[in-house]
Amino acid sequence: MRTRYYERDAFPPAVAELRRAYRVFVPVRRGDFHAFAEWDDSVRPDFDYRKTRVPPKGLVFPQSERLLVFSTDERDPEHDILREAPKDFPPQAVVGIRPYDAMAFRVLEVNFDTPEVRDPWWLRRREATTLIGLARADEDATMFRTENYAGPFDERGLDVIVYDLGRGYLAKALGEKGEAALAAMGGDEPAADALREVEERIARAATPELPAGRLRAQPAAPELPTGRLRAQPVVPLFEAEFWDEVAAPCLNCGVCTFLCPTCWCFDIQDEVRKQEGDRIRNWDSCMFPLYTLHASGHNPRGKKTQRVRNRFMHKLKYYLDKYDRGVMCVGCGRCVEACPVNIDIREVAARMNGFGEQVERHDR
Ligand code: SF4
Ligand code: SF4
Repeated sequence: MRTRYYERDAFPPAVAELRRAYRVFVPVRRGDFHAFAEWDDSVRPDFDYRKTRVPPKGLVFPQSERLLVFSTDERDPEHDILREAPKDFPPQAVVGIRPYDAMAFRVLEVNFDTPEVRDPWWLRRREATTLIGLARADEDATMFRTENYAGPFDERGLDVIVYDLGRGYLAKALGEKGEAALAAMGGDEPAADALREVEERIARAATPELPAGRLRAQPAAPELPTGRLRAQPVVPLFEAEFWDEVAAPCLNCGVCTFLCPTCWCFDIQDEVRKQEGDRIRNWDSCMFPLYTLHASGHNPRGKKTQRVRNRFMHKLKYYLDKYDRGVMCVGCGRCVEACPVNIDIREVAARMNGFGEQVERHDR
């Protein structure tokens, strides 16, 4: 497994080498926030960022994507026949992605790459994508650990992990794609003290307490309380009285779902201009009443409580039961930060997790 070391100033030029073979996406400052942008001459990467406001999910699953095209012109011998929209899927490298956002792609894949459904656009873009992760213990107060996020040094889902050691970066390939990327980036063999420092930082992030006299740089984020959820039957939880209380302040603005790296809902619409048509896929949100509105006018989730309940039940119960891959959440905290009425998934998870506990105690 290839490892390379870069002095701090040498890292951006090494990443720039990737531009010879990949479209390279890097974190950049945009006003008060950060976002991923393609690295061209107008962009300055900022690897000291903490979290992007919008996750990089859209680099594989775009917010809006033209899938198919058609013509309604009857003079066209292929009129009204859907054809795949012409596009290519060049190799792309997402450099500086945080481990929770990389893990989110593994959560998303169960919707796009399954034995039953193999979404061709997802598959080709995912295959063309190399994820080069940035590992630094800087979790903020809104973040937490789940089965799908083990902390800032979680390697799962990454092709390369890059440890920020302050004075420089140590990069380790985690598979074939990572080997190819690191070969293109060059760099030096890491010295033994850099390797040792990485091990120490990983141990510090995982250990709740350090020997007396040593301060933790950053306390480990708490775990989302979900330990009892697996065993709970769906129906009483679905009918729990607390859902009305949880949903009461919700504005159904959809921000929590649009900013979530693991939300995968989309809508497909046809747009026609004169006699040329496009079939387009757009991100959608289960928090909108229109999302479940049937053509008949019936809406199975017409009430706010039903929509809020569905969001949390999907993330913390249905996904867990159906796929046995943990909860549908990587603990990024974006929904906690952005919800205008402070609905907090950690509190909802605690209520769901504790549901029925008192009854059980009483029965004992
Ligand atoms: S961000 Fe908050 S208010 Fe908006 S839909 Fe989500 S839970 Fe409701
Ligand atoms: S549910 Fe919230 S904390 Fe979990 S992955 Fe989505 S935005 Fe992040």
